[in-house]
Amino acid sequence: MVIVLEKNIREDDKQRIRSFLEKRSLKVNEIAGEEETIFGAVGKLSLDPREVEILPGVQRVIPISKPYKMASREFKRENTVVEVRGVKIGGSRISVIAGPCAVENREQIFEAARCVAESGAVMLRGGAYKPRTSPYAFQGLGAEGVKLLREAGDAYGLPVVTEIVSADYIPEMIDYVDVYQVGARNMQNFELLKKLGALGKPVILKRGLSATIEEWLMAAEYLLSSGTNDVILCERGIRTYEKATRNTLDLSAIPVVRSLTHLPIIVDPSHAVGIRDKVPPMGLAGIAAGADGLIVEVHPCPECAMSDGAQSLYPEQFEKMMRDIEVLAPVVGRAVSRRAVKAFKASGSPSQPETASKSPSAESVADYIRRKGGAVCAYSGNQGAFADQAITCYFDNAVSKLPVNSFQKVIEAVIDGNADFGMLPIENSLAGSVYENYDNLSLYEDIEIVGSVTIRVEHSLLAVKGADLDTIKTVYSHPQPFVQCAEFLARHPEWKHVETESTGTAARIVAESGDISNAAIASDVTGPLYHLEVLKTGIETNPLNYTRFVIVAKKGAVVCPVPNFSAVIFTAANEPGSLYKALGLFTKYGLNLTKLESRPIHGEPWRYRFYANIALPSGVAASAVSSERIRSAVNELQTKAVEDNIVEDVRILGLYDSTATV
Ligand code: PEP
Ligand code: MN
Repeated sequence: MVIVLEKNIREDDKQRIRSFLEKRSLKVNEIAGEEETIFGAVGKLSLDPREVEILPGVQRVIPISKPYKMASREFKRENTVVEVRGVKIGGSRISVIAGPCAVENREQIFEAARCVAESGAVMLRGGAYKPRTSPYAFQGLGAEGVKLLREAGDAYGLPVVTEIVSADYIPEMIDYVDVYQVGARNMQNFELLKKLGALGKPVILKRGLSATIEEWLMAAEYLLSSGTNDVILCERGIRTYEKATRNTLDLSAIPVVRSLTHLPIIVDPSHAVGIRDKVPPMGLAGIAAGADGLIVEVHPCPECAMSDGAQSLYPEQFEKMMRDIEVLAPVVGRAVSRRAVKAFKASGSPSQPETASKSPSAESVADYIRRKGGAVCAYSGNQGAFADQAITCYFDNAVSKLPVNSFQKVIEAVIDGNADFGMLPIENSLAGSVYENYDNLSLYEDIEIVGSVTIRVEHSLLAVKGADLDTIKTVYSHPQPFVQCAEFLARHPEWKHVETESTGTAARIVAESGDISNAAIASDVTGPLYHLEVLKTGIETNPLNYTRFVIVAKKGAVVCPVPNFSAVIFTAANEPGSLYKALGLFTKYGLNLTKLESRPIHGEPWRYRFYANIALPSGVAASAVSSERIRSAVNELQTKAVEDNIVEDVRILGLYDSTATV
């Protein structure tokens, strides 16, 4: 049963409830959520909930109706996020785990780790004890394989996951493994589950070949009730009558599992389909269905693989799939989890990450937050605004949010030190550039761009309980959503439009009015925040509506070790051919000029400042060598081009990794 405690419960009352339950042989787990603190009590004996309900400090008691208790949504409403050495599985991110089926030798696993890290995997997989169907097939390198996996993971900054086939191997694995994988064939090896759970380490629990969802969750219950809180479910295909694929990927399990349990769920498209070319489409389908991530087999040379070669992706195929996931992620309201890629020498041997800035104190965004034990990010608007969602996408919950009421105030908060970061919208896929922020970036020289994140903008019409489309008379929103929802609004010409400073503010006004004739256009996430109901969702005219935000910080505070993107402002000299020569520089370094925008220079009529976005062309993997191109081009623009009087006033707005998240 779940015991919801009173908000201001006294410590001694809490203790009394705990011992009451423990005396009745119930195992008690305390879960402090954002909204409330609960005790989850599970055990063999049944207890009358009324006996607990009357104890001082108890708000209410909810019996758990499912046979799995700790794994059920009733036990814990909030999604569980499993954190493994800074990598999170679950929450607002999509995390991709990749690597070969088996560790075969040092060279192979290092090469695999390099490829998958460069393409954006956040964890390395590789089997060392292989549960093969045939006793004559390659059985894995055993303890030696586990050590090699760890070395390769460490070299490329990736935590490691490997399969455990028997509890007997725990002693030789424990010092090297971050996440244990329980394979499909062992899902119901309850002795293994109990011993593994007792380690308290994260476990990926694959679904058995013919296990029902309930059996799978019961297996998770074994792990949870034995002592670990960190269980990741993995759908890897089930056995059906179909022979065209190795198994049948049960995509419907994802939304079903999502509603039954708080545990994160990932998809293994490799073992599901068994055929290389079919893996990326099913991986993408898994993400579209709402999975928290993927685990994928990638081999530097699939033809030479000692196991599962036919389903292992070529590194290029994996890179392409990662890029496709990047495009899909905002559609499902998520960001792709990325580790800051360490810099490596061209030879492939790992080296220390290089730093871009001369300042020895400069560090990456993630390191900065880690060192400070948290940070603050300012944004314009109220809770539920799109900038608020962008912060969650980029930082997850690593920062606290500071709402202010203008873009300028966001920048001032960063400069004054009231915030470490600021989240500013810079362009919208339909409405174009947010000029105010382009001008702000050129005006405030003490800040720079350290990252970016794109979110899908989906608008809803929200109102208080009891309202419907017929009761509405006035609609509140930011000016942009009024434009973006023009087609829907044209169907209701009688509605009055009132502009607010953000969509969050609109929602707040409507909630405070309590009036059924008012509605707000905002994101549906503002609904629960302001106790509003969604009257209609997806009211934007064009669903391909994305906003790119930039993350700003005080100049020199953080640095990106391997940038792939830069934003520069410059004024071309007032001479024939100067703009042409300036742009030629980007060609010289093989860079992609992805955007060129001009803005009038205040006080100098008919002269313009150019804003350029420059990127490493797609397909160039992030590495010290390739990112050096971007740095050299920017340096040359700043030094030689100024000396040669091609450009004046060059300012680098930022040199960052456009795909990284914290
Ligand atoms: C594996 O991940 O290599 C594996 C053997 O998977 P499964 O247990 O899903 O067959
Ligand atoms: Mn395999």
